[in-house]
Amino acid sequence: MLFLHKIPLITWTPKGLYCTAGDFYIDPHRAVDLAVVTHAHSDHARRGSKKYICVDSGAELLKTRLGKKIEVETYRYGETFQLGKVKVSLHSAGHILGSAQVRVELDGEVWVASGDYKRDHDPSCDPFESVACDTFITEATFGTPKFVWQKNINHGQMIHDWWINNEKKGINSILFGYSLGKAQRILAELHAYAHKPVLIHSTIHELTECYRRQDRNMAPTEIMSEKNLTGELILAPPSILTDGWTPYLGSYKTAFASGWMQNSNWNRYDRGFVMSDHADWNDLNQTIKESGARRVYVQHRDGALVRHLKKEGLEAYPIADLDIELFMPKSGENLVLI
Ligand SMILES: [Zn+2]
Ligand SMILES: [Zn+2]
Repeated sequence: MLFLHKIPLITWTPKGLYCTAGDFYIDPHRAVDLAVVTHAHSDHARRGSKKYICVDSGAELLKTRLGKKIEVETYRYGETFQLGKVKVSLHSAGHILGSAQVRVELDGEVWVASGDYKRDHDPSCDPFESVACDTFITEATFGTPKFVWQKNINHGQMIHDWWINNEKKGINSILFGYSLGKAQRILAELHAYAHKPVLIHSTIHELTECYRRQDRNMAPTEIMSEKNLTGELILAPPSILTDGWTPYLGSYKTAFASGWMQNSNWNRYDRGFVMSDHADWNDLNQTIKESGARRVYVQHRDGALVRHLKKEGLEAYPIADLDIELFMPKSGENLVLI
């Protein structure tokens, strides 16, 4: 008698999410032969893989981060391609430029791995797309009910008001945010408001140029140089306060732009702009509902969301429950892909 052993379409391995039927990894943690990369942030895009697949608009960011010589194959959002036995397509995640959810289909069974995503308006990238699936692997960086973003905030105007107020007093406004994604979102939000160039740290410049080449409108920028500054808006990593820039900064106020700034969690800075590139609690739940998935695996912060989804009647698990070891056949069984 033949025993059949079922292995999920996507599993969790020491190298990251792996699709056995397509023989590729999604955002692998280590070097692999074929990496489908959801976006260019360093916890998702790592060096050393033989070949990468990503969305066309994100390829230059990936090369800027991983090296110009990497082998990259690109696809448009929604374009279907075959990897091994499975059909794959990439769909906008609304997280940063070129960010994608990965849809994998085999014999009518559909899985989607979300990567990082958000549903809030962001002029620096394409809007989030809901993708129907049977099983959804969702991120949940802000996966507790205490994280709920206020909607329809005009971030550009708010940041510009702060800048103008400080400028009137001869004070520089130093705004911290991640150099990939957040910085460019701020520049795109400021496009309609900036009354003079925003000074950017050199680490932000090259990435911003990738956005401009993808026709994203950005506020005018100038790379910070060693001269005395007054009334400027400066977009930089926090290291500028310790790495020799201070003689040029005069008097200044600081602010941080991040989802972590919610609940006035910004005492180290003069101001916090709650500006997240991840879905909040409500948007995680809405996305899961819209996907129609009956089974959900949760990454990054699983406890509260898994409990909540179970109460809602869904099958919900932490990503560790997709551990490939749990599905390996025992002797006498044949492996079947589901
Ligand atoms: Zn990210
Ligand atoms: Zn991430």
